[in-house]
Amino acid sequence: MAVGVVQHIAGYLDGIGERWIGWYVPPVQRAFADAEWQRDSRDAYCGSCGLSAGPGEVRESGCAACRVEPHLGDGIVRLGPYASHLRDWILRVKYGRWAEMAEALGQQLGEAVAEADVVDLNRAVVVPMPMPWQRRMYRGIDHAGVIAASAARALDIEVAACLARRNGPPMMTLSATERLAMGKRGLSVRRRWGGWNLDDVDAIVVDDVRTTCASLRGAIGLLRKLKARRVVAAVVAVADESARRGSDMTPKVPISREGFSGWT
Ligand SMILES: [Zn+2]
Repeated sequence: MAVGVVQHIAGYLDGIGERWIGWYVPPVQRAFADAEWQRDSRDAYCGSCGLSAGPGEVRESGCAACRVEPHLGDGIVRLGPYASHLRDWILRVKYGRWAEMAEALGQQLGEAVAEADVVDLNRAVVVPMPMPWQRRMYRGIDHAGVIAASAARALDIEVAACLARRNGPPMMTLSATERLAMGKRGLSVRRRWGGWNLDDVDAIVVDDVRTTCASLRGAIGLLRKLKARRVVAAVVAVADESARRGSDMTPKVPISREGFSGWT
């Protein structure tokens, strides 16, 4: 009888455990190893726009997509497409406050920037894609800020948080058209005593996901106005056609317009 009760309780506790599995996060290095994940090599994507590219698809002028769209600043570095494990990790960083993963991805991104050799690291700064403070309050993590700080540490350069952003609905909940309209308008140069002098500085704008490019283009435009010598984007993932296909844009983690919606 007692054994039955214990088993019953154990079963009940297992049930609780299962409900928590969505929040259970393994050590980052084990997550990388289990997924057999490695960041993209430079020839897996177009260095001008960040879209996935097959062998021989990228030329000096970029890929097929680049030839119809203006280039994204002075190029882009990415870790991979917004799909599979990388997408899950980003969602857990954003909605599950997985700071260790944000730091690990930031370090990977810093190493990828160094390998890509697209900026002069003797005069480069990392500029985090800003998050409105209201959103940081309810999310509890400024994920792009954590990723950017970690990337800057890996590169041994400074962070220049020179951009600000007005509050608005989270980008993930907007349609592509809405995102395009929102992108540039929410961004501005952050006010600071003495202003920002990026004269002759290479700026590396760091964000988690490149979707339509609207936000990145807005940030790049502002950094150009601050006289940055080169402006390069560095993003953890790029949502391109291969990632968009199927249900890849639908997050597995339940979210609402307000962010994470609960257990069910
Ligand atoms: Zn391209």
